[in-house]
Amino acid sequence: MKLLPGIQKNIPLKNYTTFKIGGRAKYFFQAKSKEELIKAIKFAQSAKLPFFILGGGSNLLVSDKGYNGLVIKCQMSNVKCQNKMSNVKIIEAETGAELGDLVKLAAKNNLTGLEWAAGIPGTVGGAVHNNVAAFDNSMADVVKSVEVFDVSESKIKNIEAKSCNFGYKETIFKKNKNLIILSCILQLKPGKAKEIEQEIKHFLDYREKNHPLKFPSAGCIFKNPSGVSAGELIEKCGLKGRKSGGAMISEKHANFIVNLDGAQAKDVLSLINLIKKEVKNKFNVELKEEIQYFNA
Ligand SMILES: Cc1cc2nc3c(=O)[nH]c(=O)nc-3n(C[C@H](O)[C@H](O)[C@H](O)COP(=O)(O)OP(=O)(O)OC[C@H]3O[C@@H](n4cnc5c(N)ncnc54)[C@H](O)[C@@H]3O)c2cc1C
Repeated sequence: MKLLPGIQKNIPLKNYTTFKIGGRAKYFFQAKSKEELIKAIKFAQSAKLPFFILGGGSNLLVSDKGYNGLVIKCQMSNVKCQNKMSNVKIIEAETGAELGDLVKLAAKNNLTGLEWAAGIPGTVGGAVHNNVAAFDNSMADVVKSVEVFDVSESKIKNIEAKSCNFGYKETIFKKNKNLIILSCILQLKPGKAKEIEQEIKHFLDYREKNHPLKFPSAGCIFKNPSGVSAGELIEKCGLKGRKSGGAMISEKHANFIVNLDGAQAKDVLSLINLIKKEVKNKFNVELKEEIQYFNA
């Protein structure tokens, strides 16, 4: 098989996830433009290789066995700010842009609406794909439209926000893997520099105080069941500090599993199974994973 120029072989995925866990990708490609991303997808299709679109790797548990296909990492990261209307401002961002850079760009332009996202790692594409949420806000509040490559039709399309089916950590993109996000348009409002700055600081301080940021993790492992905090249920089961291999249920926030030292995916999985079993036994609640599994 003739490989697309730029494709690398046997790349350790643990270097591309915030958990620092994961085996090797058989093939790995860093797309620096939309055209390169589409080219890599077409290559995978013609070579009959499965492919996986990787953003910042901050919501993933990658198998210890790695991935027997092509991982395409989104590196395109152009962002621009337009003054479209007097009271609504538009930010256009390519999928590989860091969400944190967007928060900074908005603040620099005195735009409000994204402060809550300060401190969330990952890319804009990952954030839209997951409808990332925090402090009662989510991407659904700011996304105007999303440009995608529809693999099933080999066509670039524009999806308006109302057709993205945004729900609590749910979107059309999670359900339809043929929709690959290329860029998106966010709609923000003019705000006051000082207030925006204070809000950002408030959210960053909260994370610093309450989240185990000193260890690699993938953020919260489980979604919150309706009206309850998954972290509280786990804590009430007395599971904080439980370990498996190099992984531990965080002492600081029970909905985080941290990689203390060389944890493997199987260690994290055994803690996930323990949590699900104990929470079901004690509260009759079935926790559902927020993190996504990325298996061979
Ligand atoms: C310390 C920490 C704190 C966190 N806090 C929060 C929080 O407050 N709220 C929250 O919701 N999440 C939080 N997260 C989880 C995570 O940061 C988000 O889910 C993030 O948006 C994932 O983006 P990513 O680029 O890393 O995506 P990845 O983890 O790389 O991928 C996630 C999914 O998106 C898909 N994807 C990525 N890019 C594209 C694309 N271009 N087209 C189609 N599919 C794509 C991938 O295939 C995968 O299925 C946190 C994580 C950490 C480590």
